[in-house]
Amino acid sequence: MSVRSTNLGFPRIGARRELKQALEQHWKGALSFHQLEQIGAQLRERHWRLQQARGLDHIPSNDFSFYDHILDLSCTLGCVPRRYGWTGGPVDAATYFAMARGRQIGRDDVVAMEMSKWFDTNYHYLVPEFGPDQTFRLASTKVFDEYAHARSLGIQTRPAIVGPLTYAMIGKTVDGADYCRSSLIPGLVPVYAEIFERLRSMGADWVQIDEPALSLDLPLPYREACTAAYAQLATAAPGLRILLATYFDSLRDNAPLAFSLPVDAVHIDLCRGSGQANTESNDLERLLEEALALVGSKTLSLGLIDGRNIWRNDLAASLKHIEWAVARLGADRVMIAPSCSLLHTPVDLEGEDQLDRQVKRWLAFAIQKLDEIATLAKGVNRGRVSIAAALAESDAVVEDRRTSARIHDPRVQQRLRDIAPSMKARSSSFVERNPVQRSVLNLPLLPTTTIGSFPQTAVIRKARAAFKRGEMDEAEYRDQMRAEIRDAIDRQHRLGLDVLVHGEAERNDMVEYFGEQLEGFAFTGNGWVQSYGSRCVKPPIIFGDVSRPRPMTVEWTTYAQSLTRKVMKGMLSGPITILQWSFVRDDQPRRMTSRQIALAIRDEVADLERAGIRIIQIDEAALREGLPLRRADWKRWLDGAVDDFRLAACAVEDRTQIHTHMCYSEFNDIMPAIAAMDADVISIETSRSHMQLLDAFVDWRYPNEIGPGVYDIHSARVPTVDEMVALLRKARSVLTDEQLWINPDCGLKTRDWPEVEQALANMVAAAEVVRKES
Ligand code: GLN
Ligand code: ZN
Repeated sequence: MSVRSTNLGFPRIGARRELKQALEQHWKGALSFHQLEQIGAQLRERHWRLQQARGLDHIPSNDFSFYDHILDLSCTLGCVPRRYGWTGGPVDAATYFAMARGRQIGRDDVVAMEMSKWFDTNYHYLVPEFGPDQTFRLASTKVFDEYAHARSLGIQTRPAIVGPLTYAMIGKTVDGADYCRSSLIPGLVPVYAEIFERLRSMGADWVQIDEPALSLDLPLPYREACTAAYAQLATAAPGLRILLATYFDSLRDNAPLAFSLPVDAVHIDLCRGSGQANTESNDLERLLEEALALVGSKTLSLGLIDGRNIWRNDLAASLKHIEWAVARLGADRVMIAPSCSLLHTPVDLEGEDQLDRQVKRWLAFAIQKLDEIATLAKGVNRGRVSIAAALAESDAVVEDRRTSARIHDPRVQQRLRDIAPSMKARSSSFVERNPVQRSVLNLPLLPTTTIGSFPQTAVIRKARAAFKRGEMDEAEYRDQMRAEIRDAIDRQHRLGLDVLVHGEAERNDMVEYFGEQLEGFAFTGNGWVQSYGSRCVKPPIIFGDVSRPRPMTVEWTTYAQSLTRKVMKGMLSGPITILQWSFVRDDQPRRMTSRQIALAIRDEVADLERAGIRIIQIDEAALREGLPLRRADWKRWLDGAVDDFRLAACAVEDRTQIHTHMCYSEFNDIMPAIAAMDADVISIETSRSHMQLLDAFVDWRYPNEIGPGVYDIHSARVPTVDEMVALLRKARSVLTDEQLWINPDCGLKTRDWPEVEQALANMVAAAEVVRKES
């Protein structure tokens, strides 16, 4: 009798991003699909062997994907939108990639499926589309092929597949379909049953059904459909055991439902649910106790190794929890697992040579997490002495982190204690400070501006790469960036924009740029995590107390201001965005970390004002995506986010105008928070929704100024003057002229100069047209 070591999923992109390179070669036509498939097969084999070498008892298959596992599932279930011209039979590669990325061959111009965030992660899935008479049927052999592939290598795997509840919940109805998506679940079940039967006949003994939707607020029809579905699935393939995997939060009111389903094992996330998410803090012991009370005769899979973060596990603490579960259930009814799929962590810590050695010792990436799982299983099955060295090292790391002077900065702690309510409020209300700003800024009605960045040209990227490699010295790099700033300002003068920006040439990324200048951050060389398709991000690691040793943007911004008599807007990233797009320390509440970042940004804001900058924009691109999965947690999170923003922004006098920018299209839920941020001006994405977005602001009677984006920067298309005039007229029908700013949807760094100049020239022309109408 022994506990089993298991995994729920492994990153597929490859330690050197091999899959990314291969995909991009394939899309360029430089690699055939057959060659791409071979690279995929090599990666799968490598990853299975890694897990096999560590003796893992349950190794997942079907966790691989060429683009996205939800897209794979849509193909498996025959849920292919009509516009791709699929006529049945297995979904071929061309159709698959058309669904992922759109297709443009001459007149054949088909858009891609919509992308959306996978729960509260930074991974994006392709949103399933359900039409009016949606039916499902098995249309891909991927799950069988991968199982057979592993089997041919002598590796028994546990195929993983996202379940019918989650699949129905995360999709959308299209083409006028008007039904509750829960009504699709009964139609999905026979396809799942067919899959399970076939896997069973091929020799599978376990299957893993992922149902992260059990971490959401579940309307009654979904609960009922879920119960009915699992009653059928449980009998679909006698002998095939089912692990129901829940993750990304604790189950809370869904716990009785999850544990009532007739499955063999239930997996619970003991990391996210225990205070590390933006949620009410739940302690791990209470969660475990609750699960033990409900588990009945099932097996319990303990998600103790954090699949969403990069900290090394505290093995002694985990052992204690596992032993507790073993004492209650017996070893054979306990599994050890990561909290969720390891898809959300980088692959391998080895080779991270430029990481500070002390910090590196505190970390574990996917491969190291497999070691931790194997070690814990060994410790329980063969006794603590069998893992004595690993335990000693783990204890030493815990102690090192607890006491390290690199982490704990008494000055930062003192500043946190010194935060007074007055620091989080402007000295006057918007109504009072607005006229002061008007007289200082002296802008025309309906002022024009941009969101901050201008094209990051190949020249800029080359210079930065050379500088980072040490091939270009600092003086030369600075001169080059200054030349770029001059160029951007000349172009803005010629275009006749009213409020200028320096263009962010010196910034690689809106979080990394600030993180590199702040204390408490570390950076990996290769810590990539898949964001969508072939796109990966490399989040900074916040390991310690955050502080700002010196100004970060003042020199660039004042240089830019010195080149123009127009108003130069200073650009900063906000505390919530920096928090959300980093790996955050787990030894204190996330709020504490974001507050420290807010203080650092506040210092920068104050320095910019002191240096004569009259408008400062603090971008909060990630504020909405940080929303917790459960509505009950929203208020707490939003209150905290607003508080941090205000702490960062309210360092200034009335005359200084604070802007913020948010690039998403759903404001209804967060309007009270947006209003409470009290930015003098907010720029938002609206062009794709044809200004519909503004409704939220109008309904709320939002009093401050707004720049609704008048064109979509995500497309290479240059918008016409007329289009933008039409949008502006729409905006003016609901907002006052005094409230309205004119700007694109988002930053322009991904575009080329010729299209940017044309688009902005048209935007300025549109501004002139509507000004004449006032
Ligand atoms: N100021 C940033 C830029 O212009 C904002 C980016 C964003 O909103 N994602 O690039
Ligand atoms: Zn944006």
